[in-house]
Amino acid sequence: MPRAAVFLDRDGVINVCAPPHDYIKRWSEFQFLPQVDTAIAKLNKKRIYVFVVTNQRGVARGLMTVENVDDIHRHMRHSLMEKQAVIDDIFVCPHESGTCHCRKPDIGLFLQAEQQYDIDKTHSFMIGDSVGDIQAGKKYGITTISIGSTCFDGDYHFHDLNEAVDYILGGNIG
Ligand SMILES: [Mg+2]
Ligand SMILES: [Zn+2]
Repeated sequence: MPRAAVFLDRDGVINVCAPPHDYIKRWSEFQFLPQVDTAIAKLNKKRIYVFVVTNQRGVARGLMTVENVDDIHRHMRHSLMEKQAVIDDIFVCPHESGTCHCRKPDIGLFLQAEQQYDIDKTHSFMIGDSVGDIQAGKKYGITTISIGSTCFDGDYHFHDLNEAVDYILGGNIG
């Protein structure tokens, strides 16, 4: 049976963004945004896939390694797990802009997910805080939600992840 999926951008959705032109390079720099665990646990209860799709070109720029990113994600998943919140999978683009087909707004990360999981696209969402997230979600053909202070040209806009998830699960959209 295909299952709905919520694709989450990472920086600005799950955790506080690094300062402009910088990256989250180690776990000590990672800071969860409020109620992210609550929001993800709600999706888990409804058996909706939770995937992270994240651009991390700090790797291509030599500011961090793939191992650094993996280590951050190990800690992130472990911390969430302690709050009964499970991320089903994480897809990372470590490349420089214009050198691959996976960096959002391209949809390679979504296609990677689709190869491994049976996804019901008609009931799936992309949630992000930047224009590239919204463009990618649109290109992939799922409902798009922007969160944070800037409202992009997505289908919906909410203050934060938990608000967006409440709206999705409220049966208002999708
Ligand atoms: Mg972001
Ligand atoms: Zn890439």
